[in-house]
Formats: sequence, C-alpha cells, structure tokens
Amino acid sequence: MSSDQTFVIVGASLAGAKAAETLRGEGYDGRVVLIGAEDQRPYERPPLSKDYLRGEVGRDKVYVHSESFYAEHDIELRLGRTAVSLNTADGELALDDGERLHYDRLLIATGAEPRRLSIPGDELDGVLYLRSVEDSDALRDRLDSGGAVVVIGAGWIGAEVAASARQRGLEVTVVDPLTVPLERVLGAEVGGVYRDIHVDHGVQMLMGTGVEAFDGGTAVERVRTTDGRELACDFVVVGVGVAPRTALAAQAGLAVDNGILVDKHLQTSAPGVFAAGDAANAHHPFYGERIRVEHWANALHQGPVAARAMLGAPAVYDRLPYFFSDQYDVGMEYAGFARSWDRVVFRGDPATREFIAFWLVEDRVVAGMNVNVWDVSDPIQRLIRERISVDGRRLADPGASLEELVAADAGSTA
Ligand SMILES: Cc1cc2nc3c(=O)[nH]c(=O)nc-3n(C[C@H](O)[C@H](O)[C@H](O)COP(=O)(O)OP(=O)(O)OC[C@H]3O[C@@H](n4cnc5c(N)ncnc54)[C@H](O)[C@@H]3O)c2cc1C
Repeated sequence: MSSDQTFVIVGASLAGAKAAETLRGEGYDGRVVLIGAEDQRPYERPPLSKDYLRGEVGRDKVYVHSESFYAEHDIELRLGRTAVSLNTADGELALDDGERLHYDRLLIATGAEPRRLSIPGDELDGVLYLRSVEDSDALRDRLDSGGAVVVIGAGWIGAEVAASARQRGLEVTVVDPLTVPLERVLGAEVGGVYRDIHVDHGVQMLMGTGVEAFDGGTAVERVRTTDGRELACDFVVVGVGVAPRTALAAQAGLAVDNGILVDKHLQTSAPGVFAAGDAANAHHPFYGERIRVEHWANALHQGPVAARAMLGAPAVYDRLPYFFSDQYDVGMEYAGFARSWDRVVFRGDPATREFIAFWLVEDRVVAGMNVNVWDVSDPIQRLIRERISVDGRRLADPGASLEELVAADAGSTA
C-alpha cells in the first residue's frame, strides 16, 4: 500500500508498539510516528513484579522489540516526549516540546497509572508504587536491602509483589479492606485459596483492614491501620489499582467514561481516532457492553486490531478477556469475565494448588481459571464463548476431558 499519510500513535508501550508493528506488517508504507513519554523503548510490564523485580532476568528480556526494530521498519520512535493536546477537527497533535504533528489517523494507547493513596504521610520516602521499569528497579534495590515491607492492597500487583518480596526473604505484611486477596475478580472462595498460599509462604495477611496513615521522620517507619495496629516497616508498596490515562482524550472532547470509549473497531467518538489497551473502554460484541481490561493480552491484541481498523479494514476486537499471574510456584491463567455468578465448580482440590475453577451462571461457564494445570485455556474459552450448557459433575471430574465437553455440546446442537 503506497501512502503519503501520517499515522501517529501516542503511547509507546505494548499496545502502541504492536499497532506500529502491525501497520508495517499489513504493508502500510506511509509515515508512522510512535510517541512515548517514557525514556525506554516499548517494554512489557508483567516481569516488573515477577522475575525482573527479583533480579532473575535483565532489561533485555522485557522489551517488546529489539533496539533496531523501529529504524528497520521506518517507525519514528519519539521517546521522552508527551502529547499534551489534541485537535481532532484539524488532525493535529501538540507535543510537550512545542512540536505540532499532523495526523491522518491517530491511535491513543496511553495506558493506565497507579491510583495514589491520599492519607497522612503519603509523601514520605519509602512509599513506593509500581508501574514503570524504573519503579521496579527502585523496588528491587529495596528488596536487595531486605527488612520488612508492608504491601497495601491485595490485588494482582500487591499479591505478586508480596510473593516476590517473600521469595527474596523479606518480612511481608499485606493489608487490604476486603476479606481475601483478589476478591473483586475471584470472589471469596477462590480468593481464599490465594490467601492460604501467601500464609503458607509466611506472609502476614491483614485482611478486612484499611490504612489510616504512614508515620515516620523523612521516611516511612510505620503503617497505621484502621483497626488500630502499628506495623513497623522499612518501606511500603501501594497497589490499590490503576486509573486509565484519559486526559489527552478528554481535553480533545472525546467521549470518556472509565476509559476512552470506543466501538468494536476500537474507534473513538472522533473519526480517524482510535484507542487501545488499558486506556480503552471498548464495546465487546460477545458481552454486548463496554469492558475496560487492564491486562497484557488485551494490549497485545487490541494494538493490532486498532492498526487494521486505522487502515480501513473491518477489524473487530472480540477476544475474551484473559490474564495470567505467577506467585511463588503457583501459575495461573484466567479467561472470561464475571461480575457475578451463581456458583464456583472446582476440578481438582484447590489445596493441592493444581486445579481449575469455573464460575457458572446457571449451568453456563462465564469464567475459568487454571492453576498449575496447563494447555486447557482453549477449551475453557470455548465453553465460555459457545455458552455451553454443562453438567456440573462432569465439569468437576478430572477424568472427563474438557475437549469432550465442548465436542459433546457441538454434537448435541449439530
Ligand atoms: C508490575 C505490573 C505487572 C503486571 N503483570 C501482569 C500480568 O501478570 N498479567 C497481565 O495480564 N497483565 C499484567 N500487567 C498489566 C499489563 O502490563 C498492562 O495491561 C499493559 O501494560 C497495558 O499496556 P498499554 O500499552 O495499554 O499501556 P501502558 O503499558 O500503561 O503504556 C502506556 C504508555 O503510554 C505512555 N503515555 C501516556 N500518556 C502519554 C502521552 N500523553 N504522551 C506520550 N506517551 C504517553 C506511558 O508513559 C506509557 O509508556 C501488569 C502491569 C504491571 C504494572
């Protein structure tokens, strides 16, 4: 495809980098400009709370592409540059150094940023957050020094940091107002499995408890909880969720509501402007509603779909939400989406830490999580996607293959 057009991508991380790669892969030979506020070329964040944080792999393992990739594919990578304003009527983007860029198509892949705690002592040294590779480096330095850490928030980031800190031999306390870790997504039953995993590894889990203040001179020395405890510590990691970065879109008047609103083609309310990744709240054809997903696979796959849509193809994003997590020697994959459910069916004993959990609404699987059981995510996703009516006893029976459950249904509806 020969083109004198300019496609601009704001956000040089996973979604943005994959979009740029796809534009070239699809044969687009116009100008591609990839703008990133960070000084690093695009990298993947999952290792930042896992092996990279623990010092087991180096920087070279986290990058999305080799250093030479962008020049080789004629992708203009502008690092350390922030897009500060957008005029969709004129097709113009302004950068923080005063440069104005005309675009024919624009992708906003600005991601998300950690929610900050606003409590007394929140400005003390040693109150850390984790989003960037520099954050992970700073946290690794703390792990190297050992001591005691209080992790605020038992979501995915908090749980993985707690695991990595324990693996590095620190004393770890986790504080969260909910009753079990990961409760919002997994519910009390499966979240309880993760609480036990952390307790077994020596983490003090203070659940049902909030944080009132951080005390100390210039650096944090104690965490005061809402139930009156004082937890001595050397540093604190706060993992209380992320917020989509929507400022640029909102300033330009794009529709924004818990993320940049996009349709199934990832197009925003402004023609020619698309959004993907953590920043996008996308209409999902399977669910018939908008969903904003803050996970790696979503950024990995939405970037390419947005790129194809920018090129005018009828590309649709309809993958089921999927994510993974590694804590200690427990790896898991979760597929689907469930705000509520009627029951959870276990295949295998959760106490063995090798099991599959299925979340059911009536007799249909709406989400599934395989823990230390591999190569089953495809049939789990088919059970969900094909809205297969399942017999709970067969679902729970490790002897009944998931493929057969899917095939049996296909046969019954044929
Ligand atoms: C520590 C950590 C561990 C994780 N582990 C997992 C995991 O195990 N499994 C999983 O599924 N997911 C995991 N995730 C989530 C996953 O990394 C994110 O979903 C993914 O990074 C989203 O990619 P993105 O490209 O949409 O946005 P981001 O990665 O947030 O990148 C957005 C980029 O845009 C830049 N930017 C923002 N505004 C501007 C602007 N105005 N101008 C220029 N640039 C701008 C930002 O600086 C940033 O570099 C983890 C995340 C973190 C932080």
